[in-house]
This record gives sequence, C-alpha cells and structure tokens, in this order.
Amino acid sequence: MLQNIRVVLVNTSHPGNIGGAARAMKNMGLSRLVLVQPKAFPAAEATARASGADDILDNVQVVDSLEQALVGCSLVMGTSARERSIPWPLIDPRECGAKAVAHAGGGEHIALVFGREHAGLTNEELQRCHFHVHIPSNPDFSSLNLAAAVQVLSYEVRMAWLAADGAPAKVEKSDANGDELATMDEMELFYDHLEKTLVDIGFLDPEKPKHLMARLRRLYGRSAVNRPEMSILRGILTETQKVVRGEPHKRKD
Ligand code: SAH
Repeated sequence: MLQNIRVVLVNTSHPGNIGGAARAMKNMGLSRLVLVQPKAFPAAEATARASGADDILDNVQVVDSLEQALVGCSLVMGTSARERSIPWPLIDPRECGAKAVAHAGGGEHIALVFGREHAGLTNEELQRCHFHVHIPSNPDFSSLNLAAAVQVLSYEVRMAWLAADGAPAKVEKSDANGDELATMDEMELFYDHLEKTLVDIGFLDPEKPKHLMARLRRLYGRSAVNRPEMSILRGILTETQKVVRGEPHKRKD
C-alpha cells in the first residue's frame, strides 16, 4: 500500500537533500521518489546522505515537469512553510498521513510534493494540489530543511499506516457510487479545456485573468470529481465551444 504514495521533490538544489529524503523515506517504509528537474542528480553527495537507501535512489524517476510527476495520482498534497495569497484547504502532517493511507489503501496513487530549498513551491505549483500541508513550526523560524520536512510527513504516513494495520482498508478509490476518481492528468486536460472555453465565451480575459483559474481549480479540487462526472463536464465544454464557433451542435432549434 505504501508504494502507492510517492514523494515528489521539485527543482532540488542540493543533492545531499535528495539523499537525506531517500533515507527518511526508507526509514518509514516509503519507496517511490520522483524528482522534477533536480539541479544535480545522480551525485556522490546524494548517495552519501542516503546512507544505504541506494535502492530508492536507483529507482528514482526524473521528470521535466510537476505535471509529469503527478500522472496517475488522484490525491496530491503540497507542502508549504508559509501562507499563500489564495488560501487553499490546509491540513497538518497528521491529517496528511491519515488521508494518504486511507486513499492508498483503496488503490489510489497519492503524491506528497516538496519545494525548492530557497523558494519553496510556486503558487501555480501549489494550485495543482488538493491540499496544502503546513508543519506547525515556530512562526518566527518556520522553514525546515527539505529532507527534515520529508521526514516529518513520512513519519506521519507510517504512524497512520501502523494504526490502520489489521483494520479493513477504507476504500476511497471510488466514491459512494463506486466510480473511480479522475486522476491529476485527466484534471489537467479538463482545466485546459475549461480555460480555452472560458476564453472563447469571453468569460475569462487572458489579459486580466484575476485568479479565475486558480479559484476554479480550488472548487473542482475539493469536489472529488469521478470519471463519469468528468465526461459530463468535458461534454458540456465541447458543446459550448461548438455553439460559440457556430458549428453543428446538439441544440435542435
Ligand atoms: N524559503 C522557502 C522554504 C523552503 S523549505 C519558503 O519560504 O517557501 C523547502 C521545502 O521544505 C518547502 O518547499 C516545503 O516543501 C518543505 N517545508 C519546509 N518547512 C515546512 C513547513 N513548516 N511546513 C511544510 N513544509 C515545509
């Protein structure tokens, strides 16, 4: 079940932190590490700091974008050391561990996303996440070392996993109707389609977007959209675009 939970590190500068994260993960039973454009990897310092968690480094997946790192995930939790301009559903590491384990137990894929050492995650990257996780650190000195932050979340995942051991896995892969949830890559295609349609109908001014897409991402992100619902939403957009373009469409008159 724990292999369904991936740790994603975005744009890491110091390879030592990649090794430290791998060690922290392996200590807690996690195995899947994905790196988005690391500054230096593979690197001797990563191997040194991994202190024997070499299998995790050997199996690392290196990708070019956060979008690629999230393919197949239906739950994404992004970490942040500080508050952001558009507030997002915010949870602490304990709730994060519980959610990760509950969803992973149902067969879903989950991502825990960590940012750059100096700048964290961008707002755009955070808006790709369903939840923001804040480690309730000292407000006057809130930013943990990257590998230490990975340690805290991995520990909470392990504690939730141990607590659930033996208990029937809560199946949250599908919703109450038994339908599978849409994955992040499907959601991204939808957001792209939605944005184009909103521009086509004049609702979204590309010159003055006013956080509209961020707000819509937040809305749909908390809705746990399933596959049949996604087909309905995409169908509505397709028909709307046909009407706007004067193409043949479903309306009869
Ligand atoms: N200076 C950056 C902090 C980067 S710390 C900023 O202000 O955003 C590097 C990464 O460690 C962060 O992107 C986040 O993934 C994680 N991290 C550090 N402290 C954290 C905290 N208190 N809560 C949640 N994540 C934290």
